[in-house]
Amino acid sequence: MTCRGTRWTAAIAALVAWAMVCGARGEAQQNVNDVQVHSYHVQGNVWMLAAGPFNAAVSIGDEGVLVVDTMVEPLADKLLAEIARLAGDKPIRHIINTHSHPDHVGGNPAVSRAGRSIVAGNFAAQVGQEASNQATIFAHENTLLRMGQLKPPLAFVGMPTDTFFTGQKDIFFNGEAVQMFHQPAAHTDGDVIVFFRRSDVIVAGDVYVNTTFPIVQAGQGGSFQGVIDALNRIIGLTVPKEKQEAGTYVIPGHGRLADEADVVEYRDMNTIIRDRVKDAIAKGMTLEQVKAARLVRDYEGRYGASTGFWTTDNFVEAVYRSLTPARPAGQSR
Ligand SMILES: [Zn+2]
Repeated sequence: MTCRGTRWTAAIAALVAWAMVCGARGEAQQNVNDVQVHSYHVQGNVWMLAAGPFNAAVSIGDEGVLVVDTMVEPLADKLLAEIARLAGDKPIRHIINTHSHPDHVGGNPAVSRAGRSIVAGNFAAQVGQEASNQATIFAHENTLLRMGQLKPPLAFVGMPTDTFFTGQKDIFFNGEAVQMFHQPAAHTDGDVIVFFRRSDVIVAGDVYVNTTFPIVQAGQGGSFQGVIDALNRIIGLTVPKEKQEAGTYVIPGHGRLADEADVVEYRDMNTIIRDRVKDAIAKGMTLEQVKAARLVRDYEGRYGASTGFWTTDNFVEAVYRSLTPARPAGQSR
């Protein structure tokens, strides 16, 4: 696939940093004033939505609209306007959250309020009007737990209503199977990959980004090997068309639309980095020595950063810590 030039501007990078660490809301609102939500038809029922560094996806069909991730809260009105432009008056039935971060769930309250869940049969009378006036929100249970810790807290109407703790959750919507695969201990401990089986599109969340080195949130249950496992899962699901191009499309958590070859290249890089750092750890090298050895130098031009919230040093440190075997309690070195 062609590269559309994915270098972020400083302002955009600052916006992501805000979203990750949750800064002042007023400042964030100002930052998104110039950001527009754009949409691209990927294939089948699925559209990719992009606004600066933020990605989301929608499935639009006879049953209504399913939204995967909802960007940051200050963009929610623009996100809803773009969905309405694409889907007309079709109701928003479901939201799926790929994980708990505010740049993926921030718009949940507004999108959920704008939606309507499917309530039928005997159940309808019990549930009443109130609950059917919002979209169902699917997420892994660990994502629900982490969303409960967000600061500032997310409005209750934006919290997941339908969680699961198994490896997989399937629903059938708009004439196709929609499968959510939990990827344990990857970017966080609650990541799901969403696979639209008939449309042949995967929404990866932050286990696959093509703008930076992988973001491994060790403090939130993430691990570097888990990210590599998730990338291998995506590669297992994707099938390329001729000359390794197109076929199954992959919408990353951040960055441009990708296909299998893009994910393979990214997985290969991370596998090589894993082996280099593992080797350095086995030789007894300290974190400082590994940083100084610049083991990811050949990839820094494309994915590295010296400033911002996820620098090359942050990445190398996360990889080093993630691959260092845990010492038995009481043993020091
Ligand atoms: Zn994230």
